[in-house]
Amino acid sequence: MKLEPVTSKRSIRIDDKDARLGGERKSDKALERATAKQVERICDLQRVFYADERYAMLIVLQGRDASGKDGTVRKVFRGVNPQGCAVASFKAPTEHERHHDFLWRIHRQVPERGMIRVFNRSHYEDIIVPRVHELIPKKVWTARYDQINDFERMLSANGVIILKFFLHISRAEQKRRLLERVTDETKNWKFREGDLDDRANWDRFTKAYRGVLANTSTKWAPWYIVPADDDDVRNWLIARTVAETLARLNLRYPKAEPAVLRKWRSRIERAD
Ligand code: AMP
Ligand code: MG
Repeated sequence: MKLEPVTSKRSIRIDDKDARLGGERKSDKALERATAKQVERICDLQRVFYADERYAMLIVLQGRDASGKDGTVRKVFRGVNPQGCAVASFKAPTEHERHHDFLWRIHRQVPERGMIRVFNRSHYEDIIVPRVHELIPKKVWTARYDQINDFERMLSANGVIILKFFLHISRAEQKRRLLERVTDETKNWKFREGDLDDRANWDRFTKAYRGVLANTSTKWAPWYIVPADDDDVRNWLIARTVAETLARLNLRYPKAEPAVLRKWRSRIERAD
């Protein structure tokens, strides 16, 4: 099983039953091993990616509360050199941010070449939240589909490789995870009463996500729907997609000319 990008309305399957993989699941051990292998592959490829400096990589994580965005960051990127990778988390915009266009704070966090940046939430919140809570007119948030597609196309043409993951969980699994935030004292800090308001708007969020998936999955910035009820499966599928994308870039260490190397060698040898 491998994640496929969203290419048509038909490929947008985000009912409750789609939050789990169909068919036989690998054992926990096998899944862990498979994920560890992909994590190691990402780590090796990232070393070359950093040196190569031709590309940047932007990974967008979207999903409801408790869909596993934080866990994905922790598990999938645990192997990469912290010098070459960073996370940007987007909360509700501040007063200052709201005085700018909605992509202003996003663009500032776009990685430079050689770097990987993971977005924990993103510019997609600027369509989803105002749509669900009816904060701005429909024509304003619908226009953002094209604005985002154009922005991402510009980034892509400038060497930014973009991958977008929608972490899809079911209603029942979200309830289980929210309850865990109350019963597990190491998770209390994660609970916000607003999570319940958003849960009460479940169907409106589903509709908003459908709109985003249907209108903003492009060749240059595809969406992947991740069945995320099972976090081991989620980690494995995302790690594999990231590793394969890096592998396809034919990354290389920049090489110096033989004549230059000879000159360097003789200078080093003559140095004190
Ligand atoms: P969390 O990811 O749990 O820390 O929560 C962050 C909160 O900020 C979520 O409720 C998001 O919906 C909200 N948020 C993030 N970006 C935006 C945005 N552009 N507009 C409105 N709310 C946002
Ligand atoms: Mg939260």
